[in-house]
Amino acid sequence: MTSEENREHQEPLCIRDVVVTDGRSFLCADGVVEITDGTIRYCGPRSEWNEKEMPTYYGGGRLLLPGLTNMHHHLYSALATGMTPLGPTPNFLSILEQMWWPLDEALGEEGIYLSALAGVLDCLRHGVTTLVDHHASMSFVRGSLSIVANALECGGLKGVLCFEASERHGWEAFLEHVEENLEFAAQVLEDPGMHGIFGMHANFTLSDEGLRFIAQEKPESLPVHIHCGEDFSDLAYCREKGYAGPVDRLLRNGLLVPGTLLAHCVHLDHTEYELLEEYRPVVVTNPESNANNRVGAMDRQKIPRHVFGTDGMSCDMVQTLRSQFLLGQASGTSEDFGALQRAFFDNRYDALQMWFPGAGSLAPGSPADLAVLDYAPSTPITLENLMGHLLFGARCGRAWMTLGDGKVLYHEGKFPYLDEPEIRSEALKAAEFLRRRFYG
Ligand SMILES: [Zn+2]
Repeated sequence: MTSEENREHQEPLCIRDVVVTDGRSFLCADGVVEITDGTIRYCGPRSEWNEKEMPTYYGGGRLLLPGLTNMHHHLYSALATGMTPLGPTPNFLSILEQMWWPLDEALGEEGIYLSALAGVLDCLRHGVTTLVDHHASMSFVRGSLSIVANALECGGLKGVLCFEASERHGWEAFLEHVEENLEFAAQVLEDPGMHGIFGMHANFTLSDEGLRFIAQEKPESLPVHIHCGEDFSDLAYCREKGYAGPVDRLLRNGLLVPGTLLAHCVHLDHTEYELLEEYRPVVVTNPESNANNRVGAMDRQKIPRHVFGTDGMSCDMVQTLRSQFLLGQASGTSEDFGALQRAFFDNRYDALQMWFPGAGSLAPGSPADLAVLDYAPSTPITLENLMGHLLFGARCGRAWMTLGDGKVLYHEGKFPYLDEPEIRSEALKAAEFLRRRFYG
């Protein structure tokens, strides 16, 4: 599907026999969603709906939510499944040096496109309709974000994209990363389904000069997206340079602007929690990645206003929610279900409004980005026990149907607009090529 086809006039359709909830203020056990011109025309009880002749999908009592959002992803890692690092990985830095940095150097044009497409299939299979992607491909920088955007548009996903600017390959390479971020953000300025944000790898791969350069070169209204305090080494690096920590360093270099997206925030100075309250960046927690990299966990009590990302671990946001809950239970740091629900639904809704007005809502006039999970509750469901149903009933985010702007992008294992066997076959070839370059 081309982006033009994506935006063409949408046929009306309705989904009925579903439990409908926005997770925030509204739940209807026998619900109907009617869609016209890509937006929600009616969402509510069947008893109050004026039944019409139109293509109708019967959901079999499944749970319908606003399309899910991955607030921090790395589509470039999709072809890495099954690969082992080049050497031992006793700590966080060695994981980057032995795995992710060689991988992002090995990716070429074809690999970028096919890893993004493979990731898109996985997103749609898990009801994800919007994602923020933090991209890296150090041997193919210029034009890389357009390639990722193209893959997202083929699948009908909305995206916020950036390139991980870093000085780990020197100043000249860094300038290229800056250019790629700026050029892409300008290119999609008028695009309702695609946005740019300024990507930075992490404090510890950027000099003060680099930070100041970014602040000076980028438009003031363009926020940054960065790995912030993921590992203790990031905090230690910022302290060595005379800052309280990674958040303070961004602030003092003019980069903690409205809309800033901070991934992780596991290791911060105690004074920086106040900065988060004062400047209100969006903090993205990535519980499965943090556990996998053994870096600790974000202090969810100190940062209740967070959203969820996977950091490339998967495309499954319900599974990520479950991991957040279970890891919190194991360490005795879990919030109550109300706080967890606000983080998963309300905070996500608030953050989405920066880019996609109305997304994350089921109100009439909202974009019809929807996920019907392959889960039909067999016990009473209310707004109050929704978390219990997601965590212990659905348990993962496998979708039965995924819609973007009113278009059925995935339904009962099939992708109407994507040739899955062809993509899988091409992705396999690209993955083999990637392995040869990686292990060289
Ligand atoms: Zn990340």
